[in-house]
Formats: sequence, C-alpha cells, structure tokens
Amino acid sequence: MVQRYGIVQLSTGEMLRAAVAAGTPVGLKAKEIMASGGLVPDDVVVGIISDRIDQPDARNGFILDGFPRTVPQAEALDQLLKQKHLKLDAVIELRVNESALLSRVETRVAQMRERGEEIRADDTPEVLTKRLASYRSQTEPLIHYYSERRKLSTIDGMMAIDEVTGAIHRQLVALGATEPKVRAKSAARAAPAKKGTKQSAAKAKTAKKAAKTAKKPAKSAKKAAGKAVKGTKKAAKKTVKKVAKKAGKKAPKKSVKKGAKKAAKKVTKKRAKR
Ligand code: AMP
Repeated sequence: MVQRYGIVQLSTGEMLRAAVAAGTPVGLKAKEIMASGGLVPDDVVVGIISDRIDQPDARNGFILDGFPRTVPQAEALDQLLKQKHLKLDAVIELRVNESALLSRVETRVAQMRERGEEIRADDTPEVLTKRLASYRSQTEPLIHYYSERRKLSTIDGMMAIDEVTGAIHRQLVALGATEPKVRAKSAARAAPAKKGTKQSAAKAKTAKKAAKTAKKPAKSAKKAAGKAVKGTKKAAKKTVKKVAKKAGKKAPKKSVKKGAKKAAKKVTKKRAKR
C-alpha cells in the first residue's frame, strides 16, 4: 500500500520499539508495559502520532497501523485530524482467527531469527494471550465506534497476503478513498530524493540525460541555422561570381559586336552616299 499509493505507514508499535531500543523517556515508560502485553498510556501514543503526522513525508497521506487501539485514542485522533484539517478515508479491520494468530507469531519469530534480527519480547504464546485480552477489552469497542460513523470496512485476514492487499485496494477504490495513479505521481513530486542517496544519484543521472536531450535540439538547431547561413553566403558568392562572369565575358563581347555592327552600318551608308 505504501508503494501503491505513495504514502507512509505509521506504526505505533514500531515507533515504541524504536523508542525502547534508543532508551528515550517514552521508551523507558513503554518497555515493561509492552513486554507484558498491556497497552501504553493513551497520551503517550497520541503525542507520538500527532508529531509524526506533521512530518513532511506524511503530507501525501498515511496509514495508521496499530493506532487507535482504544476509544479515547480514537476520540483524540478525531480531534487531531480536525485541527490539522485532515480527513479519515477509511478504517480497515482485518479479521483473523485467534488460533491462526499464534502460528503467525511463531512464523514471525522463525523469520526474524533467520534474518538475525532481535526477537520481540512480546512474541511468546503467554504474552500473545495477554495481548488478545487487551484487544478484546480495549480495542474491539472501536468496531462499534467506527461502524457507527460509517468508516469501518472489514476484510478477511485469513486470506493470502496478496489477496488481502487486493481486497483492501478494492475497498478503498469503492469508497473513493484513493486515485492510485494521480496520488503516486504527486507523491513522487512531493518527495524529492534526499542528497547522497542511491535514489538521488539515479535521479541526478536521469536529470542530466534529460538536460542533454533538451540541449541537443538547441545545439543541432544552432548548427542547422549556421549551415543555412553559410549555405546562403556560399550561394550568394556563387551568384555574384556568376554575375561577374557574365558581366566580364559576355558584356564586352556584346559591346564589341554592337560596335562592329554600327561601324559596318556607317561604312554601308558612306558607300551608298558615294
Ligand atoms: P504492535 O507492534 O502493534 O503489535 O504493538 C506492540 C505493543 O506496543 C502493543 O502490545 C502495545 O504494548 C504497544 N502499542 C502499540 N500501539 C499502541 C497503541 N496505539 N496504544 C497503546 N499501546 C500500543
């Protein structure tokens, strides 16, 4: 979805894990709560989201992943969006059997281990049970909250990843929440490449090529124009030469001929008189 729509994914879980790893005050507050499967206080996550939405990369739109998780968070989000003159396009509920969640957590643990990444402290069967309990008591009421506001779309999260992606996309299109091509283009325009990145190097290359191509017609036009001017000069020179030839050769001949005719006439007249 990030690639398709050119928008950012804002995951409160990821942001909190980064804060824990960096040992920030927020991270220190959240660490134990997260490890036990509870929910971090509302004001903490609302503050994080409010700051993040203001970042330039979120200008084109964003996906809130794992937020809001409580009714007070949803109310705070409504307020935030109102203040920032933003509109919530849709709320997507991914419905998954609880039994499937445990095997997904196990798969994630195995994949993270394979990649050599640090395993999440809350990815254990015991903490998962607690997280599910937090979900039921604090997050599930949001289904009612958003369906009452006609914002909720429920997608079957038991399907394969690409099928879930397709279903979300179709739902967003049906809601008129997105115009993929237009948004993707404006996203590319809105997010210029950062200096020093691979992307910026590639962009610079393309820009250079484009500039060269743009300059080429100008250069060849100049050349063509120069040729045209030169050609005219040459042609003019040729014409002048031709004229000079005519004047130098034929004119004297003609005048000589004329003179001879006149002289012959005079002689004939004189003879006739005699
Ligand atoms: P997640 O990565 O979304 O599974 O979140 C991991 C943990 O971060 C959760 O179990 C909570 O402890 C905490 N967390 C993430 N998002 C929120 C939120 N919106 N409100 C409260 N706690 C959150």
